[in-house]
Amino acid sequence: MTNGVTATLARPFEHIPDAWRQPLGLTLLIAAAVLFPLVHTNDADIDSMANAAAYAVLALGLNIVVGFAGLLDLGYAAFFAIGAYTYGILSSFQLQPEWSSFWEPFRILGLVHKMAADTGDGSVVRFTLSFWLALPLCAGFAAFWGVMFGAPTLRLRGDYLAIVTLGFGEIVPIVVRNWSDLTNGAAGLNGVSAPKLFGWSFGVNSTPYYYVAIALVALLIFISIRLRDSRIGRAWMAIREDEIAAGAMGVNRTKFKLLAFAIGAAFGGMTGVFYVAKLQTATPEMFGFPVSVMILVMIVFGGIGSVWGVVLGAFILQLLQSWWLEDLTGWLNVLGRAVHSDWLAHIDLVPSIELIFGFILVGMMLFRRQGLIPATRPQTALSFDQQHAEIRRGGFNDLKLQGLGGDVRTGALALEIKGVTVKFGGLTALNNVDLVVPNGGVVAVIGPNGSGKSTLFNLVTGLLDVGDGSIRFHGEEILGLPPHEILTKGIARTFQNLRLFPNLTVMENALIGQHARLTTGVLQAILRPPSTRAEEAAARVWAMEVFAIFGNRLTPRVGQMVAGLSYANRRRIEIARALASRPRILLLDEPTAGMNPAETLELAEQIKSLNMLGLTVLLIEHKLDVVTTLADTVYVLDHGEVIAQGTPAEVRRDEEVLRAYLGRNAQAAAGMAPAGMASVPLPTLGQ
Ligand code: ADP
Ligand code: MG
Repeated sequence: MTNGVTATLARPFEHIPDAWRQPLGLTLLIAAAVLFPLVHTNDADIDSMANAAAYAVLALGLNIVVGFAGLLDLGYAAFFAIGAYTYGILSSFQLQPEWSSFWEPFRILGLVHKMAADTGDGSVVRFTLSFWLALPLCAGFAAFWGVMFGAPTLRLRGDYLAIVTLGFGEIVPIVVRNWSDLTNGAAGLNGVSAPKLFGWSFGVNSTPYYYVAIALVALLIFISIRLRDSRIGRAWMAIREDEIAAGAMGVNRTKFKLLAFAIGAAFGGMTGVFYVAKLQTATPEMFGFPVSVMILVMIVFGGIGSVWGVVLGAFILQLLQSWWLEDLTGWLNVLGRAVHSDWLAHIDLVPSIELIFGFILVGMMLFRRQGLIPATRPQTALSFDQQHAEIRRGGFNDLKLQGLGGDVRTGALALEIKGVTVKFGGLTALNNVDLVVPNGGVVAVIGPNGSGKSTLFNLVTGLLDVGDGSIRFHGEEILGLPPHEILTKGIARTFQNLRLFPNLTVMENALIGQHARLTTGVLQAILRPPSTRAEEAAARVWAMEVFAIFGNRLTPRVGQMVAGLSYANRRRIEIARALASRPRILLLDEPTAGMNPAETLELAEQIKSLNMLGLTVLLIEHKLDVVTTLADTVYVLDHGEVIAQGTPAEVRRDEEVLRAYLGRNAQAAAGMAPAGMASVPLPTLGQ
């Protein structure tokens, strides 16, 4: 039904060309925002709009933390308070230290005035920090606190992080209430200066505040969108979708989580300055837990992670509270008197706002969980032709992939694992394992389930920090490095149980794979200079080249959400994502698991092509025909120990291997070739 309504509403706009829609909508929106106070001259309503805009900025800030990076923060109002009190204290009569020559430079800069003391005949300092200067300064100060508070807590996730942030959100108002010398306690600051523009004070007129707030919203919408659609935003979303995979694909998790906290806090601090300047006072009640919750409700209502949704949610809920609910109460009272209903005539909806928020939230959860404007773009389904297109396997000759694998110097060792031991409590998952992968080679690791193969990969890629021994990559010790540094050195992997970023597109997954090879920082993401545009464009080209390995299996689907694709395609995307990082060695953990024989064959061929292009491969595989075709050397693990190594043919004759693998006595097996090991010849590859 909702679709029907949307379609009917959209009909008049259908003949507007696609390219015009966005600029047109934006122009109308800006015009409406600019004209509003001129057309609707009710000061109280303009004030409500200014407050709503302030809340929209807060919601945008929290959206970066919760919506983009997926870190549930229940104490966001603390940063709002920090910004508010910093400006409040530095622009009011609260602190009046005695005047001394120390303050002279600040007076020249216009940050303080010299004022006659109330008592005695000395002079005191009157702080007069300019509102315009305070906006960036307090944003920076709040960001600093975001980092201070984030650093010790960001190892936590989900519920635990929520509880700790809740605590922080409670602590700040308590400190404010009790540090009366600095904050005037529960009575609140007084005499906070109103902003001035070219000597003219905003005073208590709502209109200039409204314009400042709208400008802030516009600026922060712009920043949010630019960040979201950049390397920075992708890194946040990777952390949100799968933190372990994000690390393994080169995202420095601590750094990017702190960045999200800092930027979110900066938005909060900035709003605090605005809010206090408008009210010309600040009290601890303005920043309590209900405020944090309300901002969170705005985000959920509007659409978690959706920039426009969050702004809309904030406006609707704030205006509901401060404007519409009062009007509605008035009308209901009139109606009550008309129909002689005493209850209706005296009803007041405003105090029940929290109950109403609750109903709205429950309603959203039941009928529209993704919020008013969902963050995920609608999927364009593949056309019938595309879906039924003939499968074109990636051919070796089609590949462009220049520079994959780097120079292959035969004889050199890519990976050298020596004496590696991993213990999980009483269980020895790896015991004194030695393994070498020659540069340009393909090495396979086989062994029964639970023999420690995946543990070996986890250790090499830095996901475990419990190993002893030595792991050298091109001569350099890498054991103990964090996952993102290991990827940066050129070791990329796939996971036995797929770890993709399910709510992102195929293209975004491959772009995250390139995270470590791109350089865009926060400022470049926001300003998007030509170098950044070029880098993004090149990243997309490279991703398409990588997808081409799989023929036309992935290329028509680059805009699709990964979660909706077939299992085999998701396996391919994981390999593509790893390749996108331009690795020198690729670690594949059971890449053909869950694939049918034809798909297995196809993938084996593709892996072979990659190897011929110079990529070194370390492979865990159960299907022995694949191993036989691909690998130069096979290592057999059993109970964490290497029980055999050699060429596929040698290993296959090894009695101990047969025993470990097939659980039967080698004598009995000697007569007949075990069925599982029958080799299926693979088609030979071109060149
Ligand atoms: P394989 O990949 O060869 O099937 P794994 O490397 O996944 O085997 O596991 C080897 C052994 O180590 C298993 O007994 C498994 O239960 C154990 N193991 C793996 N990871 C952990 C962990 N993080 N904590 C405790 N035990 C683990
Ligand atoms: Mg495994």
